[in-house]
Amino acid sequence: MTDDTKKLSPDTLAAQALGWLEPEHKGLIPGIFPSTTYERETDGSYAAGRVYTRDHNPNYDQPEQLLCRLEDGYQALLFSSGMSAALAVIQALRPGDHMIAPEIMYWSLRNWLLTVGKSWGIELSLVPNGDLAALKAAVRPGKTKLLWLETPANPTWTIDDIAGWAAVAKETGAHLAVDNTVATPLLTQPLALGADIVMHSATKYLNGHSDVLAGALVTARDDDFWQRVCVNRRAGGAIPGPFEAWLLLRGMRTLHLRVERASENALAIARHFEGRNGVRAVLYPGLSSHPGHEIAARQMSGGFGGMLSLCIEGGEEAAMAVAARLTLIKRATSLGGVESLVEHRASVEGAGTPCPPDLLRLSIGIEKAEDLIADIDRALQGRNR
Ligand code: PLP
Repeated sequence: MTDDTKKLSPDTLAAQALGWLEPEHKGLIPGIFPSTTYERETDGSYAAGRVYTRDHNPNYDQPEQLLCRLEDGYQALLFSSGMSAALAVIQALRPGDHMIAPEIMYWSLRNWLLTVGKSWGIELSLVPNGDLAALKAAVRPGKTKLLWLETPANPTWTIDDIAGWAAVAKETGAHLAVDNTVATPLLTQPLALGADIVMHSATKYLNGHSDVLAGALVTARDDDFWQRVCVNRRAGGAIPGPFEAWLLLRGMRTLHLRVERASENALAIARHFEGRNGVRAVLYPGLSSHPGHEIAARQMSGGFGGMLSLCIEGGEEAAMAVAARLTLIKRATSLGGVESLVEHRASVEGAGTPCPPDLLRLSIGIEKAEDLIADIDRALQGRNR
């Protein structure tokens, strides 16, 4: 592709993986480059600009540049997991720095912040999701260096106003990092709304086939903070293997189709089950009854994503029984794959979770919505088959 790519839609950029050709044979698909090291010239230089795979493997180039284009950022970096990408940002803080995050967010990261992060001297405030006033009140002038946001937030799918958080970050002189795993760059572009860094668990929608563990960061600009993040990746070595990066690129080429279909399916399921017998609540930002719907409609375009939760009448036991009766939808952790998954999050997250005990989290895939609805209907009615 030429410089005209600026005019192309994200769907086209993704489908053609930026239109790159493998230079040696003109293949449409890149090769896999397992070499961990590269030859020096006699004068000590590296003619191809590569030294060692922990710095840069050729298989990172395309997924990084494609993601950078989709998020409209300055630079993207791949990591070995979403957690390692998130930690590379948080570990760019210095002991005594203060960060603010929402109360409901990806559980393992919240846990890390409350345990290891605290013991490393990172001061943390958790604020109620969807409450900008609480965010402003939590700011400690001169000390708050990072705002961390996840929207829609896993597993209740509350919505926060990214532009509102960005304004607070700017006023405070802090960086705003947004976990955009669930929305994906097709539905929300946090950098355009004022965020400084976007984070992805690429394990989820970016790859989309439940066969790669990977993470990614995209920055709006180069600055001291980003340079510390780069050092964390290079020195820490939390990078994917070349095959994982290759698989990730293959998955990214169909991102738009998968996200569109998952969003349509999730909306159909949310509408079908809202107010149904046996369902206490449907948590989905695409429903006009959702408290964050107005903000979601403003900052998400093209759909509200494939994640929703059903709260089941009768509490934890009833919710577990419904999950046990599902046959098509698989009981498994994770999200963002082509196949639909269900999980009782409170029992996974354990003591101290803010997740309601009657909540079943559904990662909606690309199957036919009618089949998924029939599976859930049957399970709610107490029938196994
Ligand atoms: N962020 C969100 C919203 C997630 O759901 C997850 C994993 O489930 C992560 C981050 C962590 O990603 P990974 O499992 O790739 O480390």
